[in-house]
Amino acid sequence: TKGSGRNGYHFFEASMNTNAHNQLQLIQDLRHALKHGEFRLHYQPKHNAPDNSIIGVEALLRWQHPTRGLLAPADFIAVAEKTGLIVPIGDWVLDEACRQMREWRDQGYTNWKMSVNLSAVQFTNGHLTDHVAATLKKYELPPQSLMLEVTESTAMQDVEASMTILTELAVLGVDISIDDFGTGYSSLLYLKRLPACELKIDRGFIKNLAQNADDASIVSAIVALGHSLNLNIVAEGVETEKQQALLKSLGCDTLQGYLLGRPMEPSQLMRQMKNAAWL
Ligand code: C2E
Ligand code: CA
Ligand code: CA
Ligand code: CA
Repeated sequence: TKGSGRNGYHFFEASMNTNAHNQLQLIQDLRHALKHGEFRLHYQPKHNAPDNSIIGVEALLRWQHPTRGLLAPADFIAVAEKTGLIVPIGDWVLDEACRQMREWRDQGYTNWKMSVNLSAVQFTNGHLTDHVAATLKKYELPPQSLMLEVTESTAMQDVEASMTILTELAVLGVDISIDDFGTGYSSLLYLKRLPACELKIDRGFIKNLAQNADDASIVSAIVALGHSLNLNIVAEGVETEKQQALLKSLGCDTLQGYLLGRPMEPSQLMRQMKNAAWL
């Protein structure tokens, strides 16, 4: 009825204001966070499938919010991207990941690769390659120790622009990983031309792998396709031993997931490494 519609309208308007207010607060908080060093990186290991050894880590962004506690990217990345704040945040992520890598290399973890996620906004922002080169130089890191993860849909947004940037990065010597693979719409021709060395199968295909024969067929097809293009195949979101066994038998090269290791603070990861060394 008209009456309730009117009430509905007022209710809607009030909630819009609350959302707008929350967003403004979030933007302010994000600026504050950058200035006052509230961001953190957690690291999730990437394991060699045959023997479970750690071949690298993926840096995952966290925000130690002064009142809301530790926040995950889902709580703030979208707003950071919309406002462009993801560019300075992403610069901080790359710097901090490389600083940490330097520290670990000095402790003897010289064969680990550091994977860093890039958002579409950073990807199309002109200074990415220069910033990557400068950061590698700052921490005296070999380019091969860095892997940049770009989602399939980011890479597909503007194919020619992506090709240019990815080629620049590849010439620099850093590795490229195509993240969330299978959720975008890459053409085979394009995939063949991409200077990538890794495909990460999206967690959506791993989740019900043990129950769903279609998912197993898809994983198997991605492995065959990827291997024919000389790409390393990673399965992410591995949570059960059954999934692990299946993924190994389907030929995945690298496994990542809560079963093998959660994203951890550097100190926790180091504790785990030291304990493992005693086994
Ligand atoms: P992603 O790159 O696909 O990262 C994998 C996500 O899955 C991470 O969530 C990780 O914590 C989670 N995960 C890992 N293993 C498992 C598992 O076994 N089960 C389940 N259910 N989840 C698992 P997180 O850390 O919340 O990050 C979410 C997304 O935020 C990332 O997805 C990535 O797209 C984005 N992100 C994270 N850090 C950064 C960053 O530094 N920069 C940018 N631009 N994006 C980031
Ligand atoms: Ca990733
Ligand atoms: Ca992913
Ligand atoms: Ca994802």
